[in-house]
Amino acid sequence: MGNKVYKDLHKSLGLCINCSEKALPNNVCCIKHKITHNSFMVGYMRDLKKKRKQKGLCTDCGIFLDSDIDNGHVKCQNCREELYSIGV
Ligand SMILES: [Zn+2]
Ligand SMILES: [Zn+2]
Repeated sequence: MGNKVYKDLHKSLGLCINCSEKALPNNVCCIKHKITHNSFMVGYMRDLKKKRKQKGLCTDCGIFLDSDIDNGHVKCQNCREELYSIGV
């Protein structure tokens, strides 16, 4: 139970329970550890899609888009067809 004591001690000192940074107000974690894995992944995927879009790559699989077939689309033909087939 040493871990609990450690966390309680940090909590009572207003420090992050994961590291020894100062915790955010009304929080047990610092700003770094407040970012959950989930929100990190959402942000990461959003960033990845944005970068792919800028480079003219499919936002889903990252392959080069065909300027004729994929004109005006952000996803390649494969990913578009996969998307459509879900509802069928
Ligand atoms: Zn921390
Ligand atoms: Zn694709």
